[in-house]
Amino acid sequence: MAVIYERVALIGLGLIAGSMAHAMRRAKCVTEIVGTARSAETRAIATEINLCDRITETAVEAVKDADLVVLCVPVGAMEAVMADIGPHLKQGATLTDVGSVKQAVIDIVNPHVPEGVHFIPGHPLAGTEHSGPHSGFATLFDNRWNILVPLEDSDPAKVDQLTQYWEALGANVETMTPDHHDLVLAVTSHTPHLIAYTMVGVADDLARVTESEVVKFSAAGFRDFTRIAASDPTMWRDVFLTNKDATLEILGRFTEELFALQRAIRQGDGEHLHDYFTRTRAIRRGIIEAGQDTSEPNFGRTPGTKD
Ligand code: NAP
Repeated sequence: MAVIYERVALIGLGLIAGSMAHAMRRAKCVTEIVGTARSAETRAIATEINLCDRITETAVEAVKDADLVVLCVPVGAMEAVMADIGPHLKQGATLTDVGSVKQAVIDIVNPHVPEGVHFIPGHPLAGTEHSGPHSGFATLFDNRWNILVPLEDSDPAKVDQLTQYWEALGANVETMTPDHHDLVLAVTSHTPHLIAYTMVGVADDLARVTESEVVKFSAAGFRDFTRIAASDPTMWRDVFLTNKDATLEILGRFTEELFALQRAIRQGDGEHLHDYFTRTRAIRRGIIEAGQDTSEPNFGRTPGTKD
């Protein structure tokens, strides 16, 4: 494949950056991958597993002469990182991020973007509950959506180049406004994570009463919640702190629906429950038809295994 960017700098070397590094190598769309992370431990692991062509001790060294710089740290860490690297970005370079929230990232990153650097925010809708430099894999973005959020004055040629790059990594690319992105993600990702965290928290309280029967007899529904609720605490803390309005809006609607279902159960209204569950089942079919999940029972996991 033709080279899309000569030098790419990954700031932060966790699940997303690691997967990008593997996918860039697979696509052969980049000449040099430079990476950096906050801790010496992460940098040492990345060096040991040969994650990048070069690992630098500081972010400032990593962005030197980079044609594409990708912020792959938690949203709450982006402002400090940008204050550090902003003055060192190459003229004409593209700067993007992979943060799960978009308006807040724009608000904190944009003031640090120098004239002549093209900031195009982004968010790959792909992930797992694992973190760290070991957790990345080349196929993470295959057939998943990557949302780009170009700013009003973004150069269309630079947006095209970034689109081609993400397509080379296996993703499908869509553009959206930041507000729309944050609302859609509040529905499809942020609020579901909060519900999973809550359900597992409730079960944990109960486990203390029932002496761990919750773990011993955990059924598929609960196990799926625990997978989601095992996601990185720092990343998810930052998501809720920075996508406050959209999450509270969806959570409000969720609570209303929950009360309606609670009333239906109390009143023995089987018709209401059946109609509701029929409607939600159709959404699962739609996701499978769109190629975003498998139709295999239990997500294709072997019955009886933990994952
Ligand atoms: P991760 O595996 O936990 O890796 C995070 C990286 O950021 C690590 O290299 C870590 O450095 C560094 N970091 C953490 N706090 C920092 C700070 N205060 N200053 C500087 N560096 C810091 O995270 P990830 O899952 O790849 O997520 C990275 C970004 O992708 C986040 O913005 C997240 O919202 C977004 N995202 C995640 C997913 C997902 O499912 N995980 C999906 C889409 C987008 P050390 O290792 O040295 O501590």
